[in-house]
Amino acid sequence: MKKNFVKRLLSTIAIMVAICALATVSASACTTIYVGGNMTDEGTPFVARTEDYGADMNKLWFISEAGHFHKGDRYLGCPEYGEFEWTFTHDSYRFTYFTNDVFNGTCPECGQKDPTHWSYTEFGTNEKGVSVSATETIYGGKEVTEVDPFVEEKKDGIVGIEETDIPTILLAEAGSAREGVELLAHIYDEYGACAASGLFICDQNEVWYIENCSGHQYVAIRLNNDIVFLEPNLAIIGLVDLDDENIIASKGLIETAKAAKTYVGDEKENTIDFRASYANLGTAESPRVGAPRMVDGLKFLNEKYDYTQDDLFADNTKFTISNVKDGKIVPFYTNITPDRKLSKDDVFSFYQLSSVGKPSNQEIEIFQLFKNRPVETGTVGWVGVGNMANNVFVPYYPMLLEDIYKGYQVSTDVASFSTEKPDTFCNVGTSYVKDADGNWQRVSGYKAYPQNWRDSYYFTFEGLNGYIMNAEQLTGSPVTAADKQYVRDQLNDLQKKFNEEFAAMDPKDTTKAGKDMAERAHKLGLELIDYLLSHKNPFVDVKGSDYFYDAVQWAVAQGVTSGTDATHFSPKAPCTRAQAVTFLWRAAGSPEPKDSTNPFTDVKAGSYYEKAVLWAVENGITNGTSDTTFSPDAKCNRAQIVTFMWRAAKSPEDAPACAFGDVSAEAYYAKAVNWAVDKKVTSGTGADAFSPNADCTRAQIAAFLYRGSNG
Ligand SMILES: [Zn+2]
Repeated sequence: MKKNFVKRLLSTIAIMVAICALATVSASACTTIYVGGNMTDEGTPFVARTEDYGADMNKLWFISEAGHFHKGDRYLGCPEYGEFEWTFTHDSYRFTYFTNDVFNGTCPECGQKDPTHWSYTEFGTNEKGVSVSATETIYGGKEVTEVDPFVEEKKDGIVGIEETDIPTILLAEAGSAREGVELLAHIYDEYGACAASGLFICDQNEVWYIENCSGHQYVAIRLNNDIVFLEPNLAIIGLVDLDDENIIASKGLIETAKAAKTYVGDEKENTIDFRASYANLGTAESPRVGAPRMVDGLKFLNEKYDYTQDDLFADNTKFTISNVKDGKIVPFYTNITPDRKLSKDDVFSFYQLSSVGKPSNQEIEIFQLFKNRPVETGTVGWVGVGNMANNVFVPYYPMLLEDIYKGYQVSTDVASFSTEKPDTFCNVGTSYVKDADGNWQRVSGYKAYPQNWRDSYYFTFEGLNGYIMNAEQLTGSPVTAADKQYVRDQLNDLQKKFNEEFAAMDPKDTTKAGKDMAERAHKLGLELIDYLLSHKNPFVDVKGSDYFYDAVQWAVAQGVTSGTDATHFSPKAPCTRAQAVTFLWRAAGSPEPKDSTNPFTDVKAGSYYEKAVLWAVENGITNGTSDTTFSPDAKCNRAQIVTFMWRAAKSPEDAPACAFGDVSAEAYYAKAVNWAVDKKVTSGTGADAFSPNADCTRAQIAAFLYRGSNG
């Protein structure tokens, strides 16, 4: 997406004087997946793309009413992107659209106060059932862009169309996907393009995917239901025969490539490898934008695809689209075969991959297309806003939407950067400052969330994921594996409910149901943030990098143990027999002992470990150190604790014998150690050692119990 990222960032800083923080991550990281209907369990195609930009910049969703633009009205794009001009050919159709937040009346792109131009737009669906998802930034080769440069500077009122303009103009004007493609082709022919891109124009009957890598040359292809592809900022249209009725291409496509001396194809057959002829392919040495996401995404679609970036660079046909086989025109295909029928949950999960779901995600609208339905319900938009790593997709019938949840429309300031950690909710981030020589330098620090961030759907999910990702930097302690799983489970449960409710819903209720679902998702997002904030590690002596970090947090959360005081866990302190038995008892849920007769003279009535000891004796976990003593204050060694745990698990004997040199087969604890290794409770203290007689530390027992509880 937006090519002018750094330029824009710098200009914003210059204009606002104060350091205004926007970005940490690569600007161009939008990620597309298309799945044809025959590859999905519901028999419907999915057209999906995230918009990725800077982290921590609000994104909003609106409806543009029919006739908002009148026939003959002049459209003016953002001056930051050439200020494209267009005269509407009829009163505009009604359409939904995602757009940037023009906070306090200032365009975040060009800095214009009370902008006279329409705001930057990304996705939408109009009343005719046409959906537009634009654009995925791709890159043109140097040679072709010299022959056919992008049209970036306005001359006599003519400048190339840019991503910011495409959805608005097509949604306002196009009565079908095909009309949209023809209109865009006309604009590329007459005005040119401001940047290279891949984009979708679809309705319930046709899905078109269009790529351009230079000013005026493009290929639009009508996709079929047997194809799946990924597009992470890479041109992916490969060898195509232009005689196919499913292609609309610019007239000078082959000629221009020939003039640039980059043409790959067979002119006689009217074929061209568009990617090879037009795209900037990068080099084997320097990683291509998007390649890690292509690697991960292919693996996600088929477990067997163990490609490296080098494999994909060496052989583009592993991911490109073609319609040529054995010299003949065939339906469009890729060499990507998923190892399963894909569901919408697969499409959602794709966006949770660590290389795909990240802070730069602004929003996503996945279009699910139903051919045999009335036009009003023929398109379902699955909407997510903010970082997709942990998020929820809310379903809508965009054509039937009368109003939109307020959390999608709350205007906020951008997050403000400082090198000092603010007292308010914040994330980590970077910004640019001028050094003494006047050069812009990137600096690390914090980004304070805008004062009303909790009202914003975008900032809620950006905040939740930012905290999960950066808690260690923000608080000194990372979010535990258990808490990450908790967040994921909560969101997955809600997603499941949304899927079911939507399937059972009367489409005419989409406004009310959509608002309700969005509100619940928003509320859950905030609750999860509060939950994580309340689960901060309280111990100064337990660090995120410690092997027992998750175990200690688990043990405290489960009430198995508390610290030795409010801020210390004393991980290296040895564990007494009383403590060990008590921890074990609490991990078992603190069951009340059946018999209150206490045979041990050294276990005092009313002591914190009394019930634990009675329970342990009753269950054959320990017999005491003699008939009348338990030795509560004696240190517990590693052999003893593992034996306690093994007995608590009913002394199973089916584990294979382990090979520790210091555990003899005759030892009382040998079977317990076998069991513990088999259950991954311990792996010993070294390659060949279990150290049975070493003191069991508080950290070790927490780790043993934690691992035992997980398996
Ligand atoms: Zn602007």
